[in-house]
Amino acid sequence: MRNRPLEGQSALVTGANSGIGEAVARCFAGAGAKVVINYISRPEAADAIVEDIKRGGNEAIALSADVSNEDEVKAMYGAMFKRYGTIDILCANAGIQLDSPLVDMTLAKWNTVLAVNLTGQFLCAREAAREFIRRGVRPEISAAAGKIICMSSVHQDIPWAGHANYAASKGGIHMLMQTIAQELAPHKVRVNAIAPGAIQTPINRAAWATPDALSRLLTLIPDQRIGQPVDIGRAAVWLASDDSDYVQGTTLFVDGGMTLYPGFATGG
Ligand code: NAD
Repeated sequence: MRNRPLEGQSALVTGANSGIGEAVARCFAGAGAKVVINYISRPEAADAIVEDIKRGGNEAIALSADVSNEDEVKAMYGAMFKRYGTIDILCANAGIQLDSPLVDMTLAKWNTVLAVNLTGQFLCAREAAREFIRRGVRPEISAAAGKIICMSSVHQDIPWAGHANYAASKGGIHMLMQTIAQELAPHKVRVNAIAPGAIQTPINRAAWATPDALSRLLTLIPDQRIGQPVDIGRAAVWLASDDSDYVQGTTLFVDGGMTLYPGFATGG
């Protein structure tokens, strides 16, 4: 892989002022991309990441938008185009969990998770695709007219009791990703997903914050370590670069083996 495989490209990472999105944004910037740090809360965290990226000699701006709000998403793209001219890479990463047993799950919890995790990816992918198709390929920049990376989860495949809204949103992302990959491929747009396993971020703090919780979690991970955000950031750079130019409609599981049915290592 070239040292700065994303040089000259501009990238939008949603939910980029925390956890996985932050790591993807930092890795994109390190790979040469100009990066939009999208955030919905804690602007100071977004600004600090921008400053850090700039101190490292790279380029970034922070833009606020709720990815589930159509007008805000359109305004964010407008501001990005004003600053960087176009978009080459979207990492649709923003996501939330509002956990509840099914019988207690309110419609509000269901709708909110679907709105952010699934509708948010639709809205952001649609705006990116419109620009990719309008602008087309610039061979000196990338072999593709654009790249979309959808942040999914191992729970697009693994059922997860107590998290029906979240698991349904990730299952939806899987089919959204494959369908738009099929639809956009003739336009030289590549669409893929990353399905992280357990990555140490604020979203799943309860699963790793105490030694007890962490040791229970590790029984689900053959690699015997919790993932770090940079594990996902590095995978995202590869999926965004021309090194993966023939990779289309694929989900890359980055999960330390979590999807390998770890219970069967000793049972069965
Ligand atoms: P996180 O809570 O650290 O980050 C989530 C980010 O999304 C935050 O920046 C948050 O502000 C932002 N966000 C929430 N609602 C938003 C909205 N409406 N508009 C814009 N931004 C919004 O969690 P994370 O672990 O970094 O999660 C990032 C993505 O990775 C999510 O899609 C999550 O489902 C996925 N994921 C995480 C794990 C894990 O183990 N951490 C595993 C699988 C998938």
